[in-house]
Amino acid sequence: MTRVTGLVLAAAGRGSRFADALGKCQDPSTGENKIWASLGQRPLLEWTLEAFQDHPEIQTIVVVGAAGELNRLRTTAEAFSKVSAVVRGGASRAESVGNGLRALPPECEIALVHDAARPAVSAALISRVIEGVRYYGAAVPGLPVSDTVKRVDADERVHETVPRDSLRTVQTPQGARLSDLLSAYERLGSVVASLTDEAAVLESAGFPVRIVEGEERNLKVTRPGDLAKAEAALGLVSEVQGSETRTGLGYDVHSFADAEAGRELWLGGVRIPYDRGLQGHSDADVMLHAVCDALLGAAGMGDIGVLFPDTDAAHKNRRSIEFLEEVCARLEAEEWKVVNVDITLLAEAPRIGPHRTEMIAALAGGLQIAPSRINLKATTSEKMGFVGRREGIACWAVATLVRRIK
Ligand code: MG
Repeated sequence: MTRVTGLVLAAAGRGSRFADALGKCQDPSTGENKIWASLGQRPLLEWTLEAFQDHPEIQTIVVVGAAGELNRLRTTAEAFSKVSAVVRGGASRAESVGNGLRALPPECEIALVHDAARPAVSAALISRVIEGVRYYGAAVPGLPVSDTVKRVDADERVHETVPRDSLRTVQTPQGARLSDLLSAYERLGSVVASLTDEAAVLESAGFPVRIVEGEERNLKVTRPGDLAKAEAALGLVSEVQGSETRTGLGYDVHSFADAEAGRELWLGGVRIPYDRGLQGHSDADVMLHAVCDALLGAAGMGDIGVLFPDTDAAHKNRRSIEFLEEVCARLEAEEWKVVNVDITLLAEAPRIGPHRTEMIAALAGGLQIAPSRINLKATTSEKMGFVGRREGIACWAVATLVRRIK
């Protein structure tokens, strides 16, 4: 028979510390069980359930909830196919977990118990605990204590400094053979009410428990400030608003061709009347090249030289506005939208002012965005350097992209 591993998710805690802290905040309406707190626009509980739903070694999940929240828990659990039961908690954590363990299917060999308020548990940690149970019979994730620990009396008087080498702070999921856990509960009877985790139940009943390596990210959301930490642990920092924003930088420079070469001067997709054009494989539109690189940079798609290599004859004398259009098509395929583009052109001559509006219109057309999202500046180089000596034109561009996170 295949080994069945089940999870008891402890969601009954009233989270008194959380509610107390919120009670001092301005929005008292959120002073509810922390499992319903919003994390990346979903209830915290859903993140925790998803971690176990997606884990290949977990076959069944029992959720233990507070009496007044069973209906809400059942509605939430409908989206998670592994949840086989939602049961009522008891007067203490240990009693609640006991109810959950007894609701696991009898073919369940290994049982894990996890705090619903630890949403950032990783798949690797779940695997490590299951592995630990197979080797040692019972395993709990633990971390070394980094702060110095003092033992104090009721008046906060320090009595001793506790050597911390042999101390571990423990987390969940805690795992054991289901039969061991059930017999420990039976043996201890009402004593379990005073025990704060499953390891303590097992220890008290004489079962050996081993520590496996825990994770800093697997924090328990206890106070409102912990939600921000959990968001960071889940990589949701920019997903809180449901979108992701990125910025890219582009720079390009082209030298002027000799006047006899008869090259046209193209800047920002506009042909500028001037006696010399820029040297280049394409139309050498230095501004569009910088804008393309800023866009590709923001999207993490490399650069214009990779996309349109000048060793490829197909790109000879091409209009750079086509490059911009192709870059935009690639952005669209990845669902990026252009928020804004800021451009600084460095040229001693010709003067850009008379062509600015036309350039912005051309750029807006190529980028398929409103002209108000484009800012175009030009400066001379005060006669210094290659720009100052009128040997060429340089251009900087910064682009910001945004996309929804699914
Ligand atoms: Mg170029």
